[in-house]
Amino acid sequence: MRQQMIRLLIYLTIVLLMANISPVIDYFLHPNIPYLDPEHLLTGGITAGITALLLRLLISHANRMTSVAHELSHLNKVLREQTSRDSLTGLYNHRYFQEMLRHEFLLAQRHQTELSCMMLDLDLFKEVNDTCGHPFGDLVLKGTAEQILHEARATDTVARYGGEEFAILLPNTDLEGATSIAERIRARAQEYTHQDKDVAMRVTISIGLASTRAHSPQRPEDLLVFADRALYRAKKAGRNKVISYAELLAVAKHPEP
Ligand code: GH3
Ligand code: MG
Ligand code: MG
Repeated sequence: MRQQMIRLLIYLTIVLLMANISPVIDYFLHPNIPYLDPEHLLTGGITAGITALLLRLLISHANRMTSVAHELSHLNKVLREQTSRDSLTGLYNHRYFQEMLRHEFLLAQRHQTELSCMMLDLDLFKEVNDTCGHPFGDLVLKGTAEQILHEARATDTVARYGGEEFAILLPNTDLEGATSIAERIRARAQEYTHQDKDVAMRVTISIGLASTRAHSPQRPEDLLVFADRALYRAKKAGRNKVISYAELLAVAKHPEP
């Protein structure tokens, strides 16, 4: 219905414009026409007025449509942002991380660049909850997220992967670069005191690392599995450590006595 109204308005505008303009065009094209008919001038004035009114209607309708389109695209962005974030820490959530893992893996393959993945897990976090309570545990999770963000770069995807686990994707970063960022995160977390009214506590993080060039994962999920295995090794090695998948393989080849 609305579309038909718009079509009718456009049609009327064109007809009125043509009716108004054609005697004027004739006057300029044919020198034998001595003057512009005053009757045409009168009807021309009226039609020009009506045409202007119709044009105004059309323009205001177009403006309304444009602002509705802008509003929709803004709402879309807000919705996407909300569905990709973890509500406690504000970091990206598990679902978004998985999406980005596939995306960054394909990009790294296509452009022959490095991609590293970091899995981080708070050490003995259950004890924090058990001794200081769940709300304090939540505060520690938020504080840890902030500490991690301090060391990550704008191009990294930092996510809360699960309960007290975090994951980071580092595009254009080789194993050496990722190791130094992981070390900085580990050291920073160790130094930071989480504080609530009458409780203060420090927690440590174990970190597992894997990189595309160093570890040749065939699929995106392999990169994550490698980092997770390295994390498991870091836990076994005593926690508060950074271990790469390469180190884990080296230990497997030459088991410690
Ligand atoms: P490990 O060093 O081996 O990782 O020991 P851990 O105690 O950290 O590991 P475990 O998996 O036994 O415990 C994880 C704890 O994390 C248990 C669970 O209650 C807690 N947790 C998970 N999600 C949340 C959360 O959203 N808030 C709080 N406060 N605690 C959470
Ligand atoms: Mg865990
Ligand atoms: Mg843990």
